Amino acid sequence: MPDYEAVIGLEVHAQLKTRSKLFCACSTVFGEEPNRNTCPVCAGMPGALPVVNKKAVEYGVKLSQALDCQVNDRSVFARKNYFYPDLPKGYQISQYEHPLAEEGQLEMPVNGSMRQVRIVRIHMEDDAGKSIHGAENTSYVDLNRTGVPLLEIVSGPDIFSPDEAVAYLKSLRNILIYLDICRGNMQEGNFRCDANVSVRPRGRPEYGTRTEVKNMNSFRFVHKALTYEINRQIELLEDGEQVVQETRLFDESSGQTKSMRGKEEAHDYRYFPDPDLVPLSISVRDREEWSRELPELPLSKWRRFLRDYALPEEAADILTGEKDMADYFERVVACFGEPQTVGNWMISEMLRELNEGNISASESPLAPEQLAELLRLIQQEKISSKIAKQIFPEIFARGLDPETYVEEKGYLQITDESRLQEVVREVIAENPDEAASYKQGKKKLMSFFMGQVMKKTQGQANPKLVDQLLRSELGG
Ligand SMILES: [Zn+2]
Repeated sequence: MPDYEAVIGLEVHAQLKTRSKLFCACSTVFGEEPNRNTCPVCAGMPGALPVVNKKAVEYGVKLSQALDCQVNDRSVFARKNYFYPDLPKGYQISQYEHPLAEEGQLEMPVNGSMRQVRIVRIHMEDDAGKSIHGAENTSYVDLNRTGVPLLEIVSGPDIFSPDEAVAYLKSLRNILIYLDICRGNMQEGNFRCDANVSVRPRGRPEYGTRTEVKNMNSFRFVHKALTYEINRQIELLEDGEQVVQETRLFDESSGQTKSMRGKEEAHDYRYFPDPDLVPLSISVRDREEWSRELPELPLSKWRRFLRDYALPEEAADILTGEKDMADYFERVVACFGEPQTVGNWMISEMLRELNEGNISASESPLAPEQLAELLRLIQQEKISSKIAKQIFPEIFARGLDPETYVEEKGYLQITDESRLQEVVREVIAENPDEAASYKQGKKKLMSFFMGQVMKKTQGQANPKLVDQLLRSELGG
């Protein structure tokens, strides 16, 4: 459909990793027995008073700073009123006219070029509980999640394809994880996203009617839902029909979005400042202190990896895609040097084992120093890289010391010249026809002889030495 372009804005809800809830001291631990982590404040008892959690404010400000937002001197908590069984107060405490921060941007690489997406606002709010729908028309309410702190991050309508939407979400999630303020797990619901989607004839400045798509709990589903929704809207317009402004739910099993309800407008919520909470003002001292504590962020790290380690972009993408992976990489490089060799090993051999075990680099049984040790054995020609790859899964899984392991198992490369000469002579004697052809100029047969010697030595012969010996024996 080349005549249309999609316009997407994303609203992300990131659950913060604070130990206690936003307005009370209840625990935020996930997976507890239902309704265990509750108190009069988060259970919405009349007269219970909220007190804001400073750690949550710190996390909100740090994210705002990481996204180059203007942090407001004064922000105001507001009640967002609606009825829902898992919302005992009858309102959510959010921020409306005066959010925590505004006007930032997220810069990210997409298909080899840099893209900027505006961040319109970041505000704080408390999460609702959970309704669990059981068999026979029974429903249960679990208030453990009620009051857990959330940051809502609203992007500008600057995203034009499902690919860009996923790139934006991955970058944002990565920043939250680098800041160590959110677990970023979409399945567990601590990183959630809603999308506002519209389409318009390409080149037209005004926006089309938008729908809001909800219930996408993986990057793959975000991509699928947006692709479906964009095509649905284009087809409507092509058929001369109208897009209706509404909220639509993504259905994983059919891969379609389905109408859920007419879209509410802000005035439906009857926002007003929460009289139980004073306006939030953040001191310059706090702001400066938190700014100093910001870690190196993914994009800076990515640029540094390209510049200092001369890595190809793809390798830098993978290595900085997870903070754990980047840290591990730098520890190996600190021991061993040769960043490109280390990078290659990590994105091939190491990543395969991590994915297989479904673990992150920080959970790797093999320490960075041990991987450096293995690479040193290859560098010193004590083992071939072929052997190293062969033994890697085992030493990785058991966290074994590579040098001890190859010595015990007899994997050390054979560099004993007289022993290799014997093997070389044997191989030539067993293959007289090939030897004759080689002497007549069929130099390609060198790899055949090399293969035979390797076979006889279980891949342990030093290839350089074998090459020299073959040449002198065959007279090449
Ligand atoms: Zn509570």
